[in-house]
Amino acid sequence: MSDLVPQAVNVPRDQFEFELLPETDQSFENALAKARDGERLHVDDAVVLLTTGTDSDGIDPVRKEAVLEAADTHRAETVGEEVTFVANLNNNVTTACNTGCLFCNFKDTAHRFERDNPADHGGFTKTPATSCRIVSEAVEWGISEVCSVSGLHPALALDEEHLEILRADANDPSLDFKPPEAYETDPGTYCEQLRAMSVDGLHVHSMTPEEAAHARRGTDWSYRTVYERMHAAGLDSAPGTAAEILVDEVRDVICPGKIDTAEWVAAMEGAAEVGLGLTATIMYGHVENERHRAEHLRVVRDLQDRIGAITEFVPLSFVHHDTPLYNEGIVSASSSTVEDELLIAVSRLFLDNIPNIQSSWVKYGDELGLKMLNCGANDFMGTILSEEITKRAGGRFGEARSVTEYVEMIDAIGRIPVERSTDYRRRHRFDPADPPFGPVLGPKADGTPMLELVS
Ligand code: SF4
Repeated sequence: MSDLVPQAVNVPRDQFEFELLPETDQSFENALAKARDGERLHVDDAVVLLTTGTDSDGIDPVRKEAVLEAADTHRAETVGEEVTFVANLNNNVTTACNTGCLFCNFKDTAHRFERDNPADHGGFTKTPATSCRIVSEAVEWGISEVCSVSGLHPALALDEEHLEILRADANDPSLDFKPPEAYETDPGTYCEQLRAMSVDGLHVHSMTPEEAAHARRGTDWSYRTVYERMHAAGLDSAPGTAAEILVDEVRDVICPGKIDTAEWVAAMEGAAEVGLGLTATIMYGHVENERHRAEHLRVVRDLQDRIGAITEFVPLSFVHHDTPLYNEGIVSASSSTVEDELLIAVSRLFLDNIPNIQSSWVKYGDELGLKMLNCGANDFMGTILSEEITKRAGGRFGEARSVTEYVEMIDAIGRIPVERSTDYRRRHRFDPADPPFGPVLGPKADGTPMLELVS
């Protein structure tokens, strides 16, 4: 066997006494053969492919390359040589949040946003009018999607009816509610924000399962009801973020204030019942082990077998800088490059019912992000004209990516650059020999390079 490549050593394996461990009797050769033959993989197969089946900690580089090659071949056979991206804007409404996830530095404790609190909280809250102005400008630049994921601001309610229900129970601390007038800036309701961002028929991608849970707190409304009202207000699809690791013994460590796995799945099912498109994510590289990662993939695949609404899977490596997990010494690093590669590859091989696997350049950076496109990924995220979440956690990447950069980078690795709509149904291929390059799918897109318009 070749020398092993060390994995990122975040935490001693026994620190949390997890019940699920990355141990299996499955052999690497059997699992790889199943993957190459296109057989549906078992969780044990995923574990042995993610670990490369060695007896000690570390990744076998030769076996790793075999897994990446199988995934890349499978990618080529299923979705071909196109690399897609979406022309989009991130418009996050607020950083106020009391949930206290240990991997997050996006939130700012909500009481700091109150009118009578003189401290500078360093965060932001946008009114619906502000969201509308920002999104309207970006529509002129040519975007086809606005993506919005926010902190769980205590004043945010689904709509006016929900706000009245919460006001009547304002003294119940379990509701995490304070009336909008207590805050320096009123975020409005979720439905008001959605209406404000729904400009010129732009695709609005928003309302994670966690936000949907916040939007029904204190009621017995079903997730279907909540998503129906949001859909009527302008919501077109929902990001399956807030997934982190869909295993409760991991959630109990990194995000004990969040909904559990069953609730996350129920919210996704409610959104699918309304006919909304969905994505799904995994946030890995903190305290979890490879069995947790494999189990997460199983939860997502089982869900997709039932709902069929998930268009893409998005692996997100944990950005550890400036997070409580790192600052409190619980983790000392994030995932290693080889773990990132294997996670992308095994996602492609395991998720046989989700066509698109995304490489996030915000998380991986350009070089590794491009490499991921040869490990099983076929989507390269979006232009994200504003990126606040990763930057606030100390991430080194972020900001924005122009269509011109996309075309050049994707062409440089011998693939075909394609602008896509959020649901992947509308596509526009670019000819690298025929500049200039600008978005064409947005309601006001006409092929004009977008960042030149911004500057
Ligand atoms: S991850 Fe989301 S819910 Fe958790 S603390 Fe951060 S903003 Fe709040």
